[in-house]
Amino acid sequence: MAEGTKVAVLGTGIMGAAMARNLLSGGMEVRAWNRSREKAEPLARDGAEVADSPANAARGADFLLTMLADADAIEEAVGDGVLTGLAEGGGWLQMSTVGEEGNGRLAEIASEHGVPYVDAPVLGTKQPAEQGQLVVLASGPEEVRERSEQVFDAVGNKTVWLGEAGAGSRLKLVVNNWIVGLLGVLAETVAFARTIGVDPARFLETIEGGPLGLPYAQLKGNMMIEEDFPTSFSAKLARKDAGLVLDAGRAHDLSMSITEAVAARFDKAIQAGHGEEDMAAVYRAASEDST
Ligand code: NAP
Repeated sequence: MAEGTKVAVLGTGIMGAAMARNLLSGGMEVRAWNRSREKAEPLARDGAEVADSPANAARGADFLLTMLADADAIEEAVGDGVLTGLAEGGGWLQMSTVGEEGNGRLAEIASEHGVPYVDAPVLGTKQPAEQGQLVVLASGPEEVRERSEQVFDAVGNKTVWLGEAGAGSRLKLVVNNWIVGLLGVLAETVAFARTIGVDPARFLETIEGGPLGLPYAQLKGNMMIEEDFPTSFSAKLARKDAGLVLDAGRAHDLSMSITEAVAARFDKAIQAGHGEEDMAAVYRAASEDST
């Protein structure tokens, strides 16, 4: 029963704020914490309580939902008094993208505190988050699955259960490698088109509607053509995800030279000051290389 379920949301950035709003719309009680409090404050108008510390957000909550940038930020936030402050039987829904090693580290912290831990990264970006249409890649103990679904159903339109905690993060890495690779080659293709005198809009028109014309290519390709990158998913966090993929590949002795090349392009775009722009801003590095 979602009504009255208490959820502590740590992290009210692009994704966390939208998810918190959907929990409130679903009848849940939300206590939200964000490092920069001003980003959490607008949620008060939607009925959330804004907490001044992670421990105050978590006190008495049925669920802790983390949606922070990376595992280090989560480890720091979920310090003293957070897991111990949850309601009896309360669980941790870890929905940020933290990779294989990060997930292992956070699952260990949960286990030390005897708190059920669901590894539940999401597919979908700003707009699906606002519309409650994320896809949740959930993995974790059987006994909390049913209860967790009230939260997942409020933020998403599909939950895929994948087995033991860690399976969700592994699938998320696979999907994100696909996204990072697509973005890298799309950026280079747009730059290449311009360089050889082909209007890149013609390229997008030509592939549209056919098997090559991914909606994603249209969306991000148009951003590159217009050189306007309103952020749905920042270049900085996309670079973080490329790093998580490369770390996991290395841990399993797989060399991933394409992902490495795209990661280097992200580094270049970030060094040039484009880290907070949308991940499509990787184009800035590709276009510089071609001049
Ligand atoms: P975002 O808008 O950049 O928000 C990042 C959040 O992390 C903010 O709450 C930020 O706090 C907090 N944070 C960063 N470093 C911190 C630290 N050292 N200590 C405490 N808090 C810290 O990012 P987002 O797009 O919402 O992404 C959140 C997570 O979801 C990430 O793991 C991302 O990879 C994943 N994700 C994002 C998307 C997407 O399309 N945006 C899609 C799927 C998954 P401040 O406000 O104080 O900086």
